[in-house]
Parts: sequence; structure tokens; C-alpha cells
Amino acid sequence: MNYDPQTALERCETLMLDMDGTILDLAFDNYIWKDLVPRRYAAENGLTFEEARGRLFEKYAAVQGDLEWYCLDHWNDRLGIDVVKIHHDVTHRIGYLPGALEFLRTMHKREVRVLLVTNSHPDTLALKDAVTGLADYFDGLYSSHAFGHAKESQSFWEALREEVEFDAETTLFVDDSEPVLQSAADYGVGMLLRVTRPDTSAPAARGSSFHGVEGVRDMLP
Ligand SMILES: [Mg+2]
Repeated sequence: MNYDPQTALERCETLMLDMDGTILDLAFDNYIWKDLVPRRYAAENGLTFEEARGRLFEKYAAVQGDLEWYCLDHWNDRLGIDVVKIHHDVTHRIGYLPGALEFLRTMHKREVRVLLVTNSHPDTLALKDAVTGLADYFDGLYSSHAFGHAKESQSFWEALREEVEFDAETTLFVDDSEPVLQSAADYGVGMLLRVTRPDTSAPAARGSSFHGVEGVRDMLP
């Protein structure tokens, strides 16, 4: 079933929210992976910024949708640069998307179970929570790393359901990733919404097979 955003929010008993690009501004992650890491990698390897970006984007693409992509230790080993430190150096750039905190506060007062469902590594999740305090607004935090499968995989949804009882039909899942939403749809999650502007430093995405909202705030009247 396909519901418009406000109807879906009214109808849901469990609300599952992605973190990066849904609640938090993806500008932080994009700045790190598309700017800072290539800069550092270029300096370490005697490459130009463009060369470094080209090589890194190939490495990124090779593991997109896999858990390794979200694991900072993996990149520390793989690239030989301290990506954990890079994250810690720029934590002041971590922030909510416009209206996201207001949305979380509103939902926290309602009789709806709100779960964070993220591919983010537990260490990155902890770092982002330390900066934003987002955990206060959720009834549970679930990182796909704990299950050994990314959200793109059906095994993730099976493992999540073993961990948390939820009725797929009355669950609303919000994410900014088309492949992740498709995976949730294949599993049978009843209501799906796509955030079309996950990164405030970039324009909104266009063209999607899912209902879209620019930001989660747009689900409220
Ligand atoms: Mg996301």
C-alpha cells in the first residue's frame, strides 16, 4: 500500500527512521568522504585531489551496500589514514536536518514506537549521539552491524524482526536510500517514505518509486 506522508504517519504504530540523511544532515558524511578523506589520501600518496577522489570513489563503489562501507576500522586499514580521527576532528559539523529535531520531539510525545534503524557503525552512531543527543527521542536504536547484514539485505529485516516485534503492515519506514527502501518493500514493510533532501549542501533528489518528503518535518501537518 502506498500512503501519502501524513496519512502514513497517522496510521503507523511503529515508526522506523534511518539516521544519516533522514534525521541527521548527510552534508557531514559527504564532507568527510568526498572532501577530507580524498585530501588526506592525496597528501599521503602523492596524488592530486582529483586522482585521489577517482581512486577512492572506485573503492567506495566496490563495497556500497555492504557493512564494510560503514565501518571506520575497515577504512583505516584499507586506506592507511585515520578516518576515525578525521571524524572526531570535525564533530562540530554533525547536525540535524532542518525540522528533524522538532519532528522527533513531536513524535516522542505521541503513542507511537519510534525506532532508529541505521547502517551506521555503532561507533559512529555513538559519536553522533554524543553530539546531538538523538537517542533521547527513540524507543530503540538498531545498527545493522549488530545483525551482520546491511539494510539492503532481506536477512537484515528477518534479524530485526526476531529482535523487535513489529507488524510490517502498520510500520512506517523512512529512509533516504532507494535500494534500502526497496529492500524494506520486498520484505513487506507496509508504509515507506523517502527523504529527498538528505544533504543540505546539495539539491533535492528527483525521481523515485516511493512517496517522498523533502524532510521528515513535512510529515507533520
Ligand atoms: Mg541514510
